[in-house]
Amino acid sequence: LSFSSCNFPQKLLKNIEAAEYDSPTPVQMQAIPAALTGKSLLVSADTGSGKTASFLVPIVSHCVNIRLEGSLHQRKPLAMVLTPTRELCIQVEEHAKLLAKSLPFKTALVVGGDALAGQRHRIEGGVELVIGTPGRLIDLLTKHDIELDGVTIFVLDEVDSMLQRGFRDQVMQIFQSLSQPQVLMYSATISQDVEKMAKAMEKDIIVISV
Ligand code: AMP
Repeated sequence: LSFSSCNFPQKLLKNIEAAEYDSPTPVQMQAIPAALTGKSLLVSADTGSGKTASFLVPIVSHCVNIRLEGSLHQRKPLAMVLTPTRELCIQVEEHAKLLAKSLPFKTALVVGGDALAGQRHRIEGGVELVIGTPGRLIDLLTKHDIELDGVTIFVLDEVDSMLQRGFRDQVMQIFQSLSQPQVLMYSATISQDVEKMAKAMEKDIIVISV
């Protein structure tokens, strides 16, 4: 696998090149083609493995293809990334901005610590990707401030850490507000609890360990 063989939008390939990602990392080699088939995945990958780009590259490609086919008038979120912490969300957003430079791809952060009104306003203005922590997302969902019915790719990053922090029920509640998205789960370790949650979301989930 090489990035250029993947039929990605030309500007995405340029951004990958500008980031100096010469060839895919092992987790990217496995997860990117699998994600592009639309199937749900449970991937065991550590920080530093290139896992973030392994879900962001397919997300940017998918979203841009959809936007270029359709209209840019009503831009409800097409993808969502959940992470356990505000800091991790900020990092994922930075990474997404790098990969999506000069493409019709906007992001919104939905994390605690910042005013809710600003985050709601940003989403209303139209975004492709929402990146958030479970608590703040539940806040917005409960207040009906976010429409997630257009989300077709749902990423859970650092699932083991989310479970350790007691986010299980909130994550399941968020999943249940979506309409059968592709699920991409990432975890440093695949414990029984992680596997149980994965199977609860998609019983035929594909397990990838690098
Ligand atoms: P992550 O595991 O997602 O935290 O990524 C670790 C670091 O690897 C980040 O700084 C990325 O910018 C970098 N990275 C991701 N993919 C590649 C690649 N294919 N080639 C070189 N560096 C990469």
